[in-house]
Amino acid sequence: MADYNVIVIGAGPAGYATAIRCAQLGMKTACIDKWSNPAGKPSLGGTCLNVGCIPSKALLDSSHHYEFMQTQAVAHGIQCENLNIDIAAMQARKNKIIKILTQGIAILFKKNKIISFQGTARLSTDKQVEITALDGHKKTLTADNIIIATGSVPVQIPIAPTDDKWIVDSAGALAFESQPKRLGVIGAGAIGLELGSVWNRLGSQVTILEALPDFLATADRKIATAAQREMKKQGLNIHLGANVTSTTIANDEITVTYQDKKAEQKLIVDKLIVAVGRKPNTEGLGAAEIGIEINARGFIQVKEHRETTIPGIYAIGDVIGGPMLAHKGSEEGVMVAEHLAGQLSKMSYETVPYVIYTRPEIAWVGKTEEQLKAAGIEYKVGQFPFMASGRARAYGDTSGMVRIIAEAQTDRLLGIHILGTSASELIAEAVLAIELKSSAEDLARTIHAHPTLSEAIHEAALGVDGRMIHA
Ligand code: FAD
Ligand code: NAD
Repeated sequence: MADYNVIVIGAGPAGYATAIRCAQLGMKTACIDKWSNPAGKPSLGGTCLNVGCIPSKALLDSSHHYEFMQTQAVAHGIQCENLNIDIAAMQARKNKIIKILTQGIAILFKKNKIISFQGTARLSTDKQVEITALDGHKKTLTADNIIIATGSVPVQIPIAPTDDKWIVDSAGALAFESQPKRLGVIGAGAIGLELGSVWNRLGSQVTILEALPDFLATADRKIATAAQREMKKQGLNIHLGANVTSTTIANDEITVTYQDKKAEQKLIVDKLIVAVGRKPNTEGLGAAEIGIEINARGFIQVKEHRETTIPGIYAIGDVIGGPMLAHKGSEEGVMVAEHLAGQLSKMSYETVPYVIYTRPEIAWVGKTEEQLKAAGIEYKVGQFPFMASGRARAYGDTSGMVRIIAEAQTDRLLGIHILGTSASELIAEAVLAIELKSSAEDLARTIHAHPTLSEAIHEAALGVDGRMIHA
């Protein structure tokens, strides 16, 4: 008999949610994770809790408060002299949040009787995992099923190698001890924009170099264009079509050379963040060695129910690709756990929401107009600007809009795109509506409280049929 019904490798959002669901369903579950805090103790929660979603949002909130006090407080009749930033205090607050949340996962594991191992896991056969602890001590465990949730790591580019001092990845950028006067960022994706925003709000001169000619190429074009305009107003310097050719470090500054449409350009900065994407993490896992298929881009190949090419071994989260998002990984894990328990389980990839936590926030679910045009699907659009929202005006940020796209013939919702304050929260209604296969008319007939930002969704839904009240 195997030691466990299930061994989960990795305790990021994909792995820990899976382990908890497996345990809830009565499976004897172990979870192995190698992450440790500066004291060498386990720090469950993976990238998301330790160096990703949570710390970035903590700093985004702190920097938002500072920016608010600097730029908007006076209009509210609030005056503050000698406004200062204490980066150490800001970082301490962020670290405390990480500590509370990572310890929270340990408590959840205990409550669900999940056995947690700290160490690096290696698959030795299709039913056996070897764990190497921090002190080098080895242990072997067996299981009926193994779930790989080893996540992803930042992509490195040879022309800008990270050194943890001058050139850093996202984890380094979340740990700056002082504010760089001039900050460069390579990559205008979610990380580049969020972390660029943090330091821009705190007063750094931020320049983001993006290789692609389009800003946020996968977002709705109207939303992306409006977002880019707003970010420019905030002082974020975003150069599109910028092909970085070299970086050199001398005299305490970094010179980044890049080629744009016009000519070769030089950017001189005090710190440089490389945020050009993340790659699957299978290093040292032994997956390929036991016959698990890995594709050319390094992602573990999975089929139905996220089973790998070896029966009984599953893979979920960033390591299998698709949207590299915490909620996508967690849902995948729950699906696998319920499948293992013999339940009918399915996940709806079409309704995975995307959110970028800039100001304004950008959030969407479903198709963009550009995707529908390419697919030859006829659609109608309703668009409502936050400028016409009473709640947005009272709040003091009227930038952005809601765009609702419905199928022309059936009125079925196909995509909802939001640029604005609290878009990250507003998108939940959109996800639910699309998940329930609602029509724009369903949203238009749903009563939304007044005054709320969600009224903009109601209005945009009315707009699909040309009957908005406030615009
Ligand atoms: P991970 O979170 O990467 O966890 C994998 C775990 O496996 C790690 O703890 C790792 O140590 C462990 N591991 C790996 N190999 C082994 C091994 N051999 N043995 C033992 N343990 C191993 N996503 C969002 O949805 N919203 C956001 O706001 C957001 N913000 C982000 C901000 C930043 C700066 C970054 C970097 C990412 C952000 N993401 C966000 C992405 C999100 O963090 C990832 O999509 C998510 O963490 C993936 O979850 P996962 O469980 O698949 O992998
Ligand atoms: P990304 O894929 O979102 O963006 C990387 C950007 O870098 C792209 O626009 C790409 O064109 C550009 N790029 C690539 N190579 C380049 C080069 N050599 N020079 C200039 N530009 C280059 O990746 P990311 O921002 O690093 O984020 C990694 C993952 O983490 C993403 O999958 C993202 O979904 C996830 N994440 C999500 C959130 C969120 O949900 N709010 C926040 C942060 C990160």
